[in-house]
Amino acid sequence: MTLSADLLTRFTAASGPGNATTDAAAIAPHLSEWRGRWHGRTALMLMPRRVEEISRILALAHETRTPIVTQGGNTGLVGAQVPDESGNEVLLVTQRLNAIRAIDADNDSMVAEAGVVLADAQRIAAENDRLFPLSLAAEGSATIGGNLSTNAGGTAVLRYGNARDLVLGLEVVLPDGSVMNTLSALRKDNTGYDLKHLFMGAEGTLGVITAATLKLFPWPRVTETAFAGVPDPVAAINLFRRLKRDAGDALTAFELVPAIAIELAAKHIPGIRPPFAKPPAWAVLIELSSSAMWPLRNVLEASLGAAIEAGDVRDAALASSAREATNLWHLRESLSEAQKREGASLKHDIAVPVSRIPAFIREASLAVTSAWPGVRPVIFGHVGDGNLHFNISQPSGARAEDFLAHQEAIAGLIHSIVAAHDGSISAEHGIGRMKAALLPQFKDKTALELMRTLKRAIDPHNIMNPGRVLGD
Ligand SMILES: Cc1cc2nc3c(=O)[nH]c(=O)nc-3n(C[C@H](O)[C@H](O)[C@H](O)COP(=O)(O)OP(=O)(O)OC[C@H]3O[C@@H](n4cnc5c(N)ncnc54)[C@H](O)[C@@H]3O)c2cc1C
Repeated sequence: MTLSADLLTRFTAASGPGNATTDAAAIAPHLSEWRGRWHGRTALMLMPRRVEEISRILALAHETRTPIVTQGGNTGLVGAQVPDESGNEVLLVTQRLNAIRAIDADNDSMVAEAGVVLADAQRIAAENDRLFPLSLAAEGSATIGGNLSTNAGGTAVLRYGNARDLVLGLEVVLPDGSVMNTLSALRKDNTGYDLKHLFMGAEGTLGVITAATLKLFPWPRVTETAFAGVPDPVAAINLFRRLKRDAGDALTAFELVPAIAIELAAKHIPGIRPPFAKPPAWAVLIELSSSAMWPLRNVLEASLGAAIEAGDVRDAALASSAREATNLWHLRESLSEAQKREGASLKHDIAVPVSRIPAFIREASLAVTSAWPGVRPVIFGHVGDGNLHFNISQPSGARAEDFLAHQEAIAGLIHSIVAAHDGSISAEHGIGRMKAALLPQFKDKTALELMRTLKRAIDPHNIMNPGRVLGD
């Protein structure tokens, strides 16, 4: 390990009593990410409880040029939140910074600290008859700070936008330890550059987010959920167009799921009961919701009925209780875990315009299965906002290492088809370490240079999450 004894002592003092550990067993769970693809080393983990402590830690890091890696719930999927293998990086975990500082129901806003777990933020909003709509399968562990730093997406983007759309104000500790407090609860504030957006999606490379004023929404009084079997992605997009017309902005979620993903969930996740005796080739999970007492059940039934007549839907299961709706969502949210249990898989979190989804799926599936016979595309995602998890599972019975040896070539092929469809190589998970080397190939050159200029200006010693996003 290359952190000197002097640094260990000084960072321990800066982080406040009881907030630092060098205990390898306590640190170990923070050194690997969810899929086990990234493993790092560090001798020191800091778990501050207060903004002042983070300020002192970063001031010291700035002075001593010590790299800091920030971690929230450690559910990120691009390897950014775990220390690298050098042993040089100090790990700063925000989980203890977890107070809800204020909630203002009339203003539809809530000030949450960075370490608040997303599911807790949702629950506290609900206890105040409000909705905090950000929702994703890792919400039981992911934190608000991580959500904002990755500009997380999830299942409700179609209606409410990405994480950055849900923020009114931000508090950030900058790399030199100074604190930027723009924790405004205002919906109108045109007083110059809107700096909060620099830090959202920056993946911890520009500072540590310590708190955010989050937007809340009226609690939905009516929610209807259905799973509809469709013959192919073209029919799914036809159904999407129909539902947008019939339900308007009550259409909250529209998630595409292929038969193989339903089969993997039924095989690996206890308690999953798919709504169809035989999984259809493709299915979509649909949610309509409204805070007004609209007859959304009628809307959904009529829309699905017309889609069946048009041949776009083969079969549909409408949830008749909150419990049934939860079961349908549980199936959707268990897909990542099910795929993980099936063996090695390669994730491609991509976006293309919604209108290009069918062509993209057709071209990319054919290209990959022709080049690597036996690999299994497991393509699911938030199709209503153009985001697909174009995941590839290893061939049945193959050795994981043999399959993973092709990961760069498989990603290269998929990303070239993404680019041909004017898409993005990272829809919602970010760049991290995983895609840092790819960014220069896909990002506009002027935009990338401006990103580097901003990084140099805000973090001149490159101490915040070095190597992530912009590479070395
Ligand atoms: C099963 C599963 C499903 C998922 N589904 C989705 C999905 O639908 N949509 C989606 O967008 N993501 C999804 N993710 C990815 C992940 O949950 C999100 O990226 C989440 O927002 C990360 O939050 P976290 O607290 O775990 O952050 P971490 O993993 O701890 O960190 C992620 C990044 O944020 C930085 N960071 C964390 N906290 C701070 C802070 N306070 N200040 C500055 N930087 C910080 C880290 O350095 C790192 O770069 C999923 C992950 C899993 C495991």
